[in-house]
Amino acid sequence: MTDNTADAPSGTPAGTPAETPPAPLTLLGLGAMGTALAGAWLAAGHPLTVWNRTAARAEPLAAKGAAVAATAAGAVAANRLVVVCLLDDASVEEALSGVDLTGRDVVNLVTGTPGTARDRARWVTGRGARYLDGGIMAVPPMIGVPAAGPYVFYSGSRGSFEEHRAALAVPAGTRYVGEDAGLAALYDVALLSAMYGMFAGVAHAFALVRAEAVDPVGLAPLLSSWLTAMTGSVAATAGELAAGDYTRDVVSNLAMQVAGVPTFLRTAEEQGVSAELLSPYFELMRRRLAEGSGEESLTGVIDLLRT
Ligand code: NDP
Repeated sequence: MTDNTADAPSGTPAGTPAETPPAPLTLLGLGAMGTALAGAWLAAGHPLTVWNRTAARAEPLAAKGAAVAATAAGAVAANRLVVVCLLDDASVEEALSGVDLTGRDVVNLVTGTPGTARDRARWVTGRGARYLDGGIMAVPPMIGVPAAGPYVFYSGSRGSFEEHRAALAVPAGTRYVGEDAGLAALYDVALLSAMYGMFAGVAHAFALVRAEAVDPVGLAPLLSSWLTAMTGSVAATAGELAAGDYTRDVVSNLAMQVAGVPTFLRTAEEQGVSAELLSPYFELMRRRLAEGSGEESLTGVIDLLRT
């Protein structure tokens, strides 16, 4: 069972008694995201020790009160809570190799796969530290801006999450999804994958109208509101998957939708647009129909994606 606990994104840690002083922490990595995180913790009064491979990037933060460590080992030694926001998993290995992690709580915000997170969790816990993995659902300008809705998926050590929840909630909301360290990355990549599917559809739509006297700026609100209206399908799909019945919430059945596919392909052809972004999905719809699933919704396509 997944524990899906969310704090409202907050610039002040929700539920923290006013007399509790902001907890000290260490941050490794001052790229675009690390710098945004550092700024949020400093603004909230957290004593912050930072380290970055290129030392010059720490200077603006030193001016704002951050302690700057000369080495990653020195930064890790400074505080129990160690947040890592480096480029990729290889840079985490490079930065932390040979560093004493005993007794630390390592929070790894580097984007990676579930498998990478599980491997890194074993690597870190094998060296005497607790491990939390994080998937950041935000871009740097959203960090520390609760109204923008930033949050981070966390998975791994529940004890570590509970203990540091208030500090973690400063730059972005927190959403703990379970003890399995790979889950945060899985949620993160699942959401981002859906986003790329949406980007693909939007790209195709703009490509279709581009050759005509259709103003893309005028089309944009129509496209946005249509996509928003269609998001109801997410809950319907989830309900069908949970029930194991793909005929439950059918609004427009697969047979009807496959009958419409030639219209989409011919329109693309007429407009001089490649259908390469849509064709793979249409192919799956046709395959599912060929299996005799015409009365289903589109949910059955998910079954075909298993490798
Ligand atoms: P940047 O490219 O801006 O910064 C990369 C950071 O990693 C720098 O601090 C860089 O140090 C450091 N680094 C790279 N290689 C090494 C190495 N071998 N050893 C030590 N340090 C190294 O990336 P971001 O800050 O934008 O991203 C950081 C993480 O946050 C990534 O995993 C990213 O996927 C994730 N993220 C970023 C988002 C974004 O929109 N930016 C959104 C969500 C997640 P140096 O300054 O010396 O080059």
